[in-house]
Amino acid sequence: MKSKYKITFTNFFKHLHTINKHRFKVFILCTKVGIPIHGLIHDLSKYSPIEFLEGVKYFQGNYSPIVNCKKENGYSLAWIHHKNHNKHHYEYWYDYESKIETPIIPFKYFLEMLCDTLAAGQTYQGKKWTKEYQLTYWNETKDKTKMNKNMKKLLDNIYKDISINGVNKVLNRKKLKILYNKYMNNICL
Ligand SMILES: [Zn+2]
Repeated sequence: MKSKYKITFTNFFKHLHTINKHRFKVFILCTKVGIPIHGLIHDLSKYSPIEFLEGVKYFQGNYSPIVNCKKENGYSLAWIHHKNHNKHHYEYWYDYESKIETPIIPFKYFLEMLCDTLAAGQTYQGKKWTKEYQLTYWNETKDKTKMNKNMKKLLDNIYKDISINGVNKVLNRKKLKILYNKYMNNICL
């Protein structure tokens, strides 16, 4: 079947711009939580041909091109490559042979994941983004997210806090570390 999507010159630059914008926002947020190096090297694999060219082909401005690709093909090679090369995705840590079905991820990658989700919302929503956005999005998607349930509860807490107090107040490394320990210590895997 012929694809309705194709690689164009315009989308090449639009996609490149979206990646750069997103990475810049991640960097700002990562700096706030004390992991600037993570922010600097965040998502570099998106410039690899396997991820980049698929992103150009399925580009549209308001959500990830991976969604379109999955809709058309049922899978996305860019996503498979991405989650296998980036520790800030909880899926990176999955091992289907492990007895822990949904592992927890180390604190520094949890922080990067948090910054990534917030920055993605800000990138795609642009001026429409509000501090309540992430909580709403999370509540709509968390049931189909196959994530460790303690991490889910931790995110419930953090996104709720952000919806009330804003990103700047909540993105505090010390406070987040205490919360992370609290939720992960009484872990039931
Ligand atoms: Zn990523």
